[in-house]
Amino acid sequence: MREIGLYLHIPFCLKKCVYCDFASMGGGEEFFAPYEARVLEEISLRARRDVTVRTLYVGGGTPSVVPARMIRSLLAALREAFPFAPGAECSMEMNPGTVRKDMLEAMREGGVNRVSMGMQCAQDRLLRMLGRPHRFSDVAEGVRMLRRYGFDNLNLDLMLGLPGQTEDDVGESLRKALDLGVSHLSCYGLIVEEGTEMARRVRDGEWTLPDEDTERNMYDMCLAETSRRGMRQYEISNFAYPGRECRHNVDIWKRGEYIGIGCAAAGFMDGVRRQNPSSLSAYLRGENPQEEAIGEEDAMFESVMLGLRLTEGITDSEFYSRHGRTLFEVFGRRWQKAVDHGLLIYRNGRLQLTRRGMDVQNSVLVDLMPD
Ligand code: SF4
Repeated sequence: MREIGLYLHIPFCLKKCVYCDFASMGGGEEFFAPYEARVLEEISLRARRDVTVRTLYVGGGTPSVVPARMIRSLLAALREAFPFAPGAECSMEMNPGTVRKDMLEAMREGGVNRVSMGMQCAQDRLLRMLGRPHRFSDVAEGVRMLRRYGFDNLNLDLMLGLPGQTEDDVGESLRKALDLGVSHLSCYGLIVEEGTEMARRVRDGEWTLPDEDTERNMYDMCLAETSRRGMRQYEISNFAYPGRECRHNVDIWKRGEYIGIGCAAAGFMDGVRRQNPSSLSAYLRGENPQEEAIGEEDAMFESVMLGLRLTEGITDSEFYSRHGRTLFEVFGRRWQKAVDHGLLIYRNGRLQLTRRGMDVQNSVLVDLMPD
C-alpha cells in the first residue's frame, strides 16, 4: 500500500505577528464554523482507501486557537476518510498561551502524539517586539501541561537574527528551551518578508538586523549547544534526539507523497503539485486548487534541492530508484564548482552540503539548476 503524509491547515491565530506572511489571520472567529464545514467537505472529496497515512501534520496559523470541538471533529473525519498506519506520527502546532485542557483531551482522542510550539526566544522584550501574544513563562507552563497530558514528543521553534537580538540572547534561549527537556528543536533564521510590518520598520531604519557574521555565530551556537546535549542535526534548521526527528518533514524532504487539506495547503501526489487557494474567502467559495505536473528534469532537481536540506544528503541509490539515473550522470558536470569551493561533497555515492554549503545553500542550488 502507498504510504503518504497528510497536512491540514488551520489559518487562524490570536493576532498577526509583525514578521508573518503565512496564510493566517488574527481573530476570525466568525469564520471558524464555515471553515470547519468547508474542510469537512474537502476531506470527504479527497478521501481514499488505497493509501496508508504514515504521518499527519496539523499546522497553521495556530491550530490550537479554534474550539477543541472543531479539532476533534476534523481529526475524526480524517481518520474516517483515510486508513492510518499503526503508530502513525501525528503532529500539531500550538502556541504558548493556547495550551488548554479541553484541547489537549481532543488532541489525545484524535491520536496526536507530537506537538510543535512556537517559542521563538526566551526574552519577553523580543517577543513583544515580534507581536507574539505570549511570554517565556507561557512556554514553560505549556510544556509542563503537555507532559501532564502524556505528550512527550515535543518541538520548540526558535528564531535567529531578530532585530536587537544578541548572541547572549540566543545562548539563553537555547539553554532555556533545552532545559525544558524537549526532544526536538527547530532554529530558523528570520526572513524579512515584503509587505510585513517587520519589513517596513527595517526599511525605515527603526529596527536593525544583526549582521551576517553575528547571524552565522548564532547558528553555530545552535549546532554547538544541541550537540553538547546529545541532539543530532538532521536538517539545516532541525535538531532532535535519536528517533525524534519529524518523520512528516523528513518524508517531504525525501520527496514523499502527501495530501494537503485546507486553505493554502499544498500537496504532492502522482507527480502533481497541488496548491489550494491561499485566500480564506477563495477557499471558502470552493475555488479550484492550482495544479502543476512536474516534468522529469524538474523532478530530478527537486529531489536534489529537497534532499540537500538533510544533513545525510541524498544517495545515488535513492535518486536512481526515483529517476532511473545516477546523481553523477545528471549533476556531475554542474556540481564541480561547488565541490571545488568546499560547499558540496560527493563521496561513496552520497551528495551532501558541507557546513559552509549550508550557509549559501541557495547559490549552490543555482549551479545545479537545469539549463
Ligand atoms: S502565530 Fe505563526 S502563523 Fe500566526 S501570525 Fe504568528 S507567525 Fe504567523
